[in-house]
Amino acid sequence: MSQQTGQQSDQHAWTERYAGALMNTFGAPKLVLTRGAGAHLWDADGREYVDLLGGIAVNALGHGHPALVGAVTEQLQTLGHISNFFASGPQIELAERLLALLGADGRVFFTNSGTEANEAALKLTRRTGRTKVVATEGAFHGRTMGALALTAKEAYRTPFEPLPGDVVFVPYGDVAALEAAVDDETAAVVLEPLQGEAGVVVPPRDYLPAARRITLEHGALLWLDEVQTGIGRVGAWYAHQHPDLVSEPVVPDVVTLAKGLAGGIPVGACIATGGSGKLFDPGNHGTTFGGNPVAAAAALAVIDTIEKDGLLDRVTAVGGRLREGLAAEPRVTEVRGTGLLIGLDLAQPLAAEVVAAAQDAGFILNAPTPQRIRLAPPLVLTDEDVTAFLAAWPGILDAAGLTGDATGAGAAS
Ligand SMILES: *Cc1c(COP(=O)(O)O)cnc(C)c1O
Repeated sequence: MSQQTGQQSDQHAWTERYAGALMNTFGAPKLVLTRGAGAHLWDADGREYVDLLGGIAVNALGHGHPALVGAVTEQLQTLGHISNFFASGPQIELAERLLALLGADGRVFFTNSGTEANEAALKLTRRTGRTKVVATEGAFHGRTMGALALTAKEAYRTPFEPLPGDVVFVPYGDVAALEAAVDDETAAVVLEPLQGEAGVVVPPRDYLPAARRITLEHGALLWLDEVQTGIGRVGAWYAHQHPDLVSEPVVPDVVTLAKGLAGGIPVGACIATGGSGKLFDPGNHGTTFGGNPVAAAAALAVIDTIEKDGLLDRVTAVGGRLREGLAAEPRVTEVRGTGLLIGLDLAQPLAAEVVAAAQDAGFILNAPTPQRIRLAPPLVLTDEDVTAFLAAWPGILDAAGLTGDATGAGAAS
């Protein structure tokens, strides 16, 4: 399939230029990509891939979806950016839609990314008059200083300390630990409904309801980080609404969104329900780009398309088929997740090798930890793509050198 002409490929030349011009924060790029359509991508040498990562749970409608292209094009031709001294219809409509999908009264603050949505939420929690925040081990909330303060991972934190303080970490999914950590000084508890960057870790179904009860008892806010899990990813508009994930309905005080919300156009949202939506006064927070008409129109197009094309049901069906197929392989020791946010454990810590072998075979995957693989494909992934991937999967594990002998380290921690 490779269309390279000279001695060295276009891939190679771009990668060298990348190294000479971009900061080395991400390591060497795995590929230089030039084009996408649906759930397929093409690299600079013309090779085709099935995209099972979706730009890390971002490309909800895949690549080049006509509804998204049309909405962005039309909005940019009409009114592109105006600053927050002014308002636009798409911004107001999007805020109303997000609240309606949440099924709660509230207020929305728009940002351009997940970390900024969390930054807004963290500042909002300070307006309660309290400073203590309870967060969880294994969580990921972003890379700005405030969001990083809520992220337990030492490798991310240590080079940047001191970080904003008064954050307590508890094991994820542990109700008793939460009970012990939350007190009358606690401003908020921040939780992912499922931990994405940890390799898709699913809490017990009573965890979020217990967190709601505990926070109410102490007058603390319940803040759910749905940056990765929100807007259809798990087969519900918000993951905390999915009956597979919660034993009873939960109404959070704060919800943060970003990744899939506008299908690849940068946007984030900090939603606060009830009285929490009024904690910020004029001048407390701001952004130049946040909620600009193009990003808002893109998000509305994503939401409309998910609704119109019945993608929530589709996500549930396709996700179920993928999980079943992956679990059938004996070298996979556990498959987790809901809808199209899927994590699996390998019998041996060869996740990086599996990602490389998958790429050679024409499939894009991700290794969030040395022994875990994550899939977060476009919500429009086709049955044909699933069939092709599941057929290739055993061969990918062979090529990665995975054997049937479990090391014992594969069990979820
Ligand atoms: C990706 C992610 C973030 C950070 O989002 P950015 O857009 O990369 O800043 C925050 N929280 C969760 C749960 C995420 O998955």
